[in-house]
Amino acid sequence: MSDHHRNYGLYLHIPFCKQLCYYCDFHFTVSLRWKEPMVQALVKEIRMRAGEAADWVITSIYLGGGTPSVLSPQELQILLNEVAAHYTMAPDPEITLEANPEDLTPSYLTELKSITTINRLSVGIQSFSDSHLKVMNRRHTARQAMDAIKNAQQKGFTNINLDLIYALPGLNNRQWQKNLEIFHSLEVPHLSAYHLTIEPQTVFSYYQKKGRLKPVGDAVSVRHFQTLMDFSREAGYEHYEISNFARPGCYSKHNLGYWTGMYYLGFGPSAHSFSGLERSWNVANNTQYLQELENERRPLAEKEIITPVMSYNEFVLTALRTMWGVSFEELHHRFPEYSSRFESGIQKFVADGQVLYNHSAYFLSNKGKLMADYIISDLMQVE
Ligand code: SF4
Repeated sequence: MSDHHRNYGLYLHIPFCKQLCYYCDFHFTVSLRWKEPMVQALVKEIRMRAGEAADWVITSIYLGGGTPSVLSPQELQILLNEVAAHYTMAPDPEITLEANPEDLTPSYLTELKSITTINRLSVGIQSFSDSHLKVMNRRHTARQAMDAIKNAQQKGFTNINLDLIYALPGLNNRQWQKNLEIFHSLEVPHLSAYHLTIEPQTVFSYYQKKGRLKPVGDAVSVRHFQTLMDFSREAGYEHYEISNFARPGCYSKHNLGYWTGMYYLGFGPSAHSFSGLERSWNVANNTQYLQELENERRPLAEKEIITPVMSYNEFVLTALRTMWGVSFEELHHRFPEYSSRFESGIQKFVADGQVLYNHSAYFLSNKGKLMADYIISDLMQVE
């Protein structure tokens, strides 16, 4: 196993949102009634499962959701204190809070800075255009988003990520470019830019069926992605993963962990955990989650044993999406049984200029990034 496995993370899922975004299929509820019992249940789960991480040194904590910023800074710190009391922490762990702009008011930010140990913010901006925010049913305006970021920086939060969405129906390339320019003007070190996918069970999917929403065509997708890549090069952001861009070195430790085989425990409804040999996930139902913990039981939904082929596929999938690519050494060391098949399979993409290689790894060229999903699925193995 490579050194990457020396990273350990904790994920806390906060399953509340104030409003339903039309593209979203994450697990959450808009009823805040259960906020306090949920915090208490999370505290219990954090304590209960400490034994699973007895020899771990935690390098990152991620508060995700849902919308964790619906919790008060006091409630967030109750959770972080519980972690600190039962887990061994690295000296300088990355502690990220996912937040929606409308929650990041000056007073909230002041408390966040003074009460909590959170040192990184990931803000769901999605768009800097009010009309597009409306289309997605986001609660904030473009102005609120820009003010939230400036306020956060003034209070001393410099390690910030913004999420943006492209390939949204009705978003033209000039408007997409404008979103990127505004992002740039805010001087934050990290960007996650996601292609809109219309997931089943979302309002967008319903609109699509009714003919009220038409997904953009391939040409638009490609153009937006090309604009994104040109922007990142010119603005000095490393395209270190298909959807992620960072000022040199300002990577998200936690996300990088996910792509490099980090072990992690996930707390809260629907949260996943991974320990190398096994993946498990909690029940995705808030009431059931609360009940299980009430009865002192881990709210487990299911677990699966990771087979060698699953582990290989995951390695190919995540490594090829990063700028470091598939390392020859790691491939041969961890997957000797698949390495020759991988190397013969990848030659056609090398010949077409979609995959490049240096002395130590294969990685996607810009041309290859445009068809990453295809290349990756072609290289995967079936059991
Ligand atoms: S996108 Fe975020 S804020 Fe919107 S519904 Fe989904 S989890 Fe909640």
